[in-house]
Amino acid sequence: MNTKKRKISILGSTGSIGTQALEVIEKLKDKFEIVALSGGSNIKLLEQQALKFRPKYVCIGNNDDKLELAGIKTLYGNEGLEEICSNKENDIILVAVSGKIGLKPTLKAIENGIDIALANKETLVMAGDIVMQKAKTAGVNIIPVDSEHCAIHQCIKDISKVEKLIITASGGPFLNKTTEDMKNATVTEALAHPRWNMGKKITVDSATLMNKGLEIIEAHHLFNMPYDKIEVVVHPQSIIHSAIEYVDGSVIAQIGLPSMHIPIQYAITYPKRFEGIKSKSFSFSEIARLDFLAPDYKKFPSLELAYNAGKQGGSATTCLNAANEEAVFAFLKNKIRLYDIYTITEKMMATHQIIKNPTLDEIFEIDKETRIKTQELF
Ligand code: NDP
Ligand code: MG
Repeated sequence: MNTKKRKISILGSTGSIGTQALEVIEKLKDKFEIVALSGGSNIKLLEQQALKFRPKYVCIGNNDDKLELAGIKTLYGNEGLEEICSNKENDIILVAVSGKIGLKPTLKAIENGIDIALANKETLVMAGDIVMQKAKTAGVNIIPVDSEHCAIHQCIKDISKVEKLIITASGGPFLNKTTEDMKNATVTEALAHPRWNMGKKITVDSATLMNKGLEIIEAHHLFNMPYDKIEVVVHPQSIIHSAIEYVDGSVIAQIGLPSMHIPIQYAITYPKRFEGIKSKSFSFSEIARLDFLAPDYKKFPSLELAYNAGKQGGSATTCLNAANEEAVFAFLKNKIRLYDIYTITEKMMATHQIIKNPTLDEIFEIDKETRIKTQELF
């Protein structure tokens, strides 16, 4: 990065990734200028962020809410997010909203030739083929924020010589619990992630291992890697963030103490690297022990469901994403049990008529229809 400040907007600045991104930017304030910040319903936090970082725009989820700040224009809803992503003043946009709302703004940023730091994995699960193709055509970089994909991005020198990707999984809160414990888990138990403090949707996905399934699909699109060359290994300490194996058998892993600051910082400053929010210096002897085990596909059937959806391709992953997201929301509202997230998603997948190469309109239609049909099952 030259001395010119990099202009950045953060979609979802009030969330777990968004707030940590602002901590990174605060440390690197001579390197960044914020164009826009956006929140959903946490107007109070967005206001505090806006007063501190003085963006030109703020965007709030709902126009029933009010946020009036001198010298800062307020935008609303999904249109507001798309307006931010149409503003060519941006050098990079961090897409850190959760769920399906990430897709349209991401497409807008691509249309406008703006690089993207992508945290929102659902975008690639819904429409990875189209998003990656459009980004390639437009010459837009999509830099992963997800820690596993950031790790792989850091390890890869020559993608054509990669034999396989090895994605690590912490195993979530039910790793050492019985299947019965998991099936009947309360919302509080499912949200008690042992390693990461994240938004509720991804935390529930981590408890069912659907998060790892979504990450396999994300990795397939980001690195153009066939599914039989993407492996998952459970690694409870979350020290190895992921690895790649080259054709000659060499394995390169990215290692570090668990912290989302580092991948966020890497993505928004790429291709440069700065000290910024430096994590504590790493000591192998302090860590002493690293464990690895194969995932338990019986206890966590969502992982195989996602693998299969990815292999089927086309609209299968759009359906998977929509059904899972609606089921997670229902679980968070105590309408269904944790295990029902799987059974419901599996049911929706079983009846879905896959379109091999869906258009964007078809993707939005499938997303909408799947959500309606999924909601009928609660
Ligand atoms: P959070 O739930 O913490 O934050 C989500 C953000 O999106 C908040 O700013 C929220 O606003 C905003 N938002 C939610 N709904 C709407 C809406 N309808 N309109 C506008 N804004 C909305 O999620 P995370 O930060 O944990 O995750 C964000 C994304 O990053 C997800 O896709 C997740 O999978 C991915 N990710 C997250 C990781 C993590 O460590 N947290 C790690 C890897 C990937 P508000 O809170 O104001 O309502
Ligand atoms: Mg991850």
